[in-house]
Amino acid sequence: MMRRVTTIAETRAALAGLRRGGRTVGLVPTMGALHDGHLSLVRASRDRCDVTVVSVFVNPTQFGPGEDLDSYPRDLDADAALLESAGADLLFAPDASEMYAEGAETRVEPGSISTVLCGASRPGHFAGVATVVVKLLGITLPDFAFFGEKDYQQLKVIERVVRDLDMPVRVMGCPIVRDEDGLALSSRNRYLNAGERVSARVLSRALRRLCERIARGEIDACELTRALADEVSGEPGVRLEYAAIVDAETLAPLGRLTSPGRALVAARVGRTRLIDNVAVGPVPAKADAAVVPLSWRSPA
Ligand code: AMP
Repeated sequence: MMRRVTTIAETRAALAGLRRGGRTVGLVPTMGALHDGHLSLVRASRDRCDVTVVSVFVNPTQFGPGEDLDSYPRDLDADAALLESAGADLLFAPDASEMYAEGAETRVEPGSISTVLCGASRPGHFAGVATVVVKLLGITLPDFAFFGEKDYQQLKVIERVVRDLDMPVRVMGCPIVRDEDGLALSSRNRYLNAGERVSARVLSRALRRLCERIARGEIDACELTRALADEVSGEPGVRLEYAAIVDAETLAPLGRLTSPGRALVAARVGRTRLIDNVAVGPVPAKADAAVVPLSWRSPA
């Protein structure tokens, strides 16, 4: 039976009980409006840990002015039902005043890795993410914390923060879960109308074509990036924000695909901002199968 709590004190007390006897704890931080991508993280945690705690918190400090904080989908009862059936043990769903006590001023400011790509167009976003994640780690003290590769830059930022701050937790990256047509699952997909939903396929389609070109031997990252950008921005109703091929760890631009890389795109489909990415170049065998699911089908 999953327990549902809203305060930091209840979370600590519940976990103190659950942790007894040396049981390991896995944390899955989310903003709710849960889908199979989130639930894959819950499953990964259950596979790895004795106890799984999921946080649902739409974190105001990671939204910029004019972003979708107010309209972000919220349905805590539906989320709780999904988490219960996925086998989570504890749901921590605080409100903003519980997470940010009056007068709290400290922020975690990640370094250069957070100023490129999404960080360039969303100033302060990754400081908001890093701050709330560090708080969640401090509240739940997990052995493992699970993040999706869907938000690849976020995963790398969190890995860096945890390393730089010597936090005793293992950050686990989990593969992107996609719809049958390739679109990466996202809570924001709910914003798309039927036409936009079709246009949105261009992100995963362009990344898949990129992988095909790389498989045929192309390694010039500039050429490949141009083709990726052209394909996405060529789709009617889609406005490219960035297309990039970067070092898989530092997120610095890559010239040639001779080391592990990541291709990433961000675009607006109508008013909805979507992101996607894929591993490129010589990828460690372990990550490869996880990142390019064999279930990708040719879009209709
Ligand atoms: P969010 O609720 O959007 O903040 O996401 C919470 C966690 O779920 C983050 O670690 C995301 O990267 C992860 N996530 C979201 N969508 C997917 C997906 N399609 N596949 C895998 N992980 C995902």
